[in-house]
Amino acid sequence: MTATQAYSELVRRSREAALLGSAASLLAWDQETYMPKGGGEHRGEQLALMAGIVHQRRTEPVIGELLAVAEASELVADPESPESANVREWRRSYDRATKLPAKLVEELARTESLAQQAWVEAKPKSDFAAFAPWLEKMIGLKKAQAEAIGYQEHLYDALIDDYEPGAKVSELRPLFVRLRERLAPLVAKIGAASRKPDESMLRRDFPLEAQREFGSKTAAEFGFDFERGRLDVTSHPFCMGVGPGDCRLTTRYDAGYFNDGFFSILHEAGHGMYEQGLEAAHYGTPMGEAVSLGVHETQSRLWENRVGRSAAFWKGRFASAQGAFPSLKGAGRDAFHFAINAVAPTFIRVDADEATYNLHVILRFEIEQDLLTGALPVADVPTAWNAKMEELLGVTPPDDRRGCLQDVHWSAGLFGYFPTYALGNIGAAQLAAAADRDLGGLDATIEKGDFGALREWLRDRVHRHGMRYRPGDLLRRATGSALDPDLLLSQLEAKYGALYGI
Ligand code: ZN
Repeated sequence: MTATQAYSELVRRSREAALLGSAASLLAWDQETYMPKGGGEHRGEQLALMAGIVHQRRTEPVIGELLAVAEASELVADPESPESANVREWRRSYDRATKLPAKLVEELARTESLAQQAWVEAKPKSDFAAFAPWLEKMIGLKKAQAEAIGYQEHLYDALIDDYEPGAKVSELRPLFVRLRERLAPLVAKIGAASRKPDESMLRRDFPLEAQREFGSKTAAEFGFDFERGRLDVTSHPFCMGVGPGDCRLTTRYDAGYFNDGFFSILHEAGHGMYEQGLEAAHYGTPMGEAVSLGVHETQSRLWENRVGRSAAFWKGRFASAQGAFPSLKGAGRDAFHFAINAVAPTFIRVDADEATYNLHVILRFEIEQDLLTGALPVADVPTAWNAKMEELLGVTPPDDRRGCLQDVHWSAGLFGYFPTYALGNIGAAQLAAAADRDLGGLDATIEKGDFGALREWLRDRVHRHGMRYRPGDLLRRATGSALDPDLLLSQLEAKYGALYGI
């Protein structure tokens, strides 16, 4: 067999596994949106079977043989060619997958589905005791997964690698220390400031249909293509790229609060435009996939915060918001802009402002490590959670619904996922600064409503490359510098300094 034949066969197999995986994604999307409650157990069986089939396909020994032929050939001479990138990433995922026993993969999929349903029931009742056995089981499975994959420094590294290839606890810790060192005093200074936003204007009547319309219209203006995507309602907003031409966004609405629905849509649309910006010709191969969750989160954060929460955006848009929501008539534009940028320590991560958000991430990063190493018993999670909330943010959740039960991640087996949110915030600040430089002033384009300039810049620097570069290299090429929290911190200090007069 020639190297070209081996490569073609690898492409064929990769596409087939991607197609099967995308069918499983749709089952999961349906579970989060429209599936009746009674369908849970059956859906768990379906997802477990699909996961097992995909895993079996991805671990067939012939893939190892085909990879060996391709790796020894001229096909991979240029490390930046699509062939090289695909072979490198196939090797990485083949090595990871072949280390996992099929039984563990199926058990994980089944437990994820059932644990999520247990979490959905336990959360509104703040019933941590009902969820604890599932968390215990999940941690056992994730430990087994990490041990099977192997790691050099920390058990947790083997799990983060699934979401942020190459990321390590030893590299994340110093980044997070720097965030904490400057964010905690900033939040304290804001708390002591005499100037305060009037948030009452965000808690008026915002009819659901008007929210859906205004949010969808803005997402479409940003460049999310509704011919190749849609928007539905769920309890925990997410974006799912099903395949070329089909990207699903979800949000949730509160008829008495503006921020929840609107900024979730902008956030998920940022993710969606990344999915829609991937090269369809590379579908089913690593070159047609997003490079990491951290980079994915740079896209959502940039559109949600740098664009959607900017003064420039509302200069060009506040009148149309007042048209969509009569309850905003009489509100001032500057006061509205201050209100949507209000900073206050709160219990819920997804509602957190830009200044406190990363502190929520740091809390989860620390608790996850302790759960995996066994330093923290599952039964003590609520106590540990509340103590860290007090230490980092100065508030204590009144119940577990607003404490350790708030996020879906642990029930879904997503250990190691949280740090990618902070990496996204850091990277988004760097990308925004680079785009600002390259476009000769980002705010001018935003105010005019010319979102295409930024979207095309991101498409060129990030989206179209798929997994061609490692996450750190992609960011370095796009921005000219390595991952560095200083830019984010300086941007936040400047923005809130002006708003709060501190
Ligand atoms: Zn996101």
